[in-house]
Amino acid sequence: MQISHAIAAILDGTKIASQIKDEVAAQVKELTTQGIRPGLAAVLAGNDPASEIYVRNKVRACEQLGIYSEKLTPPDSVTTEEMLRLVSELNRRDDIDGILVQLPLPPQVDSKRVLLAVSPEKDVDGFHPVNVGYLSTQRPGLTPCTPAGVIEILKRSNIEISGRDAVVLGRSDIVGKPVAMMLINSNATVMICHSRTVDLAAHTRQADILVAAIGKPAMVTADMVKPGATVIDVGINRVMDKQKLREYFGDDPKRQEEFARKGSTLVGDVHPRVAEVAGAITPVPGGVGPLTIAMLMSNTVKAARLRRELPVQ
Ligand code: NDP
Repeated sequence: MQISHAIAAILDGTKIASQIKDEVAAQVKELTTQGIRPGLAAVLAGNDPASEIYVRNKVRACEQLGIYSEKLTPPDSVTTEEMLRLVSELNRRDDIDGILVQLPLPPQVDSKRVLLAVSPEKDVDGFHPVNVGYLSTQRPGLTPCTPAGVIEILKRSNIEISGRDAVVLGRSDIVGKPVAMMLINSNATVMICHSRTVDLAAHTRQADILVAAIGKPAMVTADMVKPGATVIDVGINRVMDKQKLREYFGDDPKRQEEFARKGSTLVGDVHPRVAEVAGAITPVPGGVGPLTIAMLMSNTVKAARLRRELPVQ
């Protein structure tokens, strides 16, 4: 007897992110005709190479969409007080609608104090407790980018959220908790799992929508997923071990070639073979990742509108 596996629909995050960016560019154009140019300030303290790449990509996205951007680069030796002064200056500036403080900050800086100092109306990362409160009470505000991207993928792929059982793996303030809150706000029945959850698989197998944000390579395996479920993989993990490469991707020639060229490849928190069980799944890379910057751009325009009491589109 031949057993055939249905392969899940691949939810193309790159395509969805590009649609969102086109919409944002159109909004920027419209605002510009009213004399408003949305502006984003990115604060990059120190010399963390990964942070430099993230900020460069964000500034480049602003340029592509017509958003004004400014990069501020205080030195590695910056103090908490200096960071607070810089943030307060940006809070006051009328040409800046969004303030992004790239993490991690140098160790001597009190990150929590700095993030708290960002005016909630310019908090385009959506991490300020005021915005967290707005999200949980369904008031208009700025929401965190990666979780908002997860919801955009579901909605734009016509995946029903209302009435479905959703399981979120991970309870971080930046992904797990806000994504769970957004799913509740979209009328899903939500369970949040974390490192102390006793029988993870028993929960994940109930999920119509499974969101994995745990930072553990390929931890969600096919036997943990309900056939036909939608699986959103937020995880980004670098694979540098050839044996793991084989374990995750088998003989996939594209991955082999990439690994040979770069010495590594990326895998999510979900094992690639879950695609043989799921109904729809986001790839890594090219799934949730591209949405994060698109939603940051969208938040910057939203902040520009909210601050001027213009209707949010
Ligand atoms: P954190 O490390 O802050 O949180 C991880 C969460 O997963 C914690 O709640 C932790 O539980 C839980 N967890 C860890 N191990 C297990 C386990 N074995 N079983 C069940 N739960 C577990 O990570 P983030 O939320 O910041 O990020 C999660 C992933 O998403 C990472 O891979 C990260 O790289 C990626 N990411 C991707 C983004 C994108 O743009 N696509 C943006 C942000 C993150 P506990 O609370 O008990 O410790």
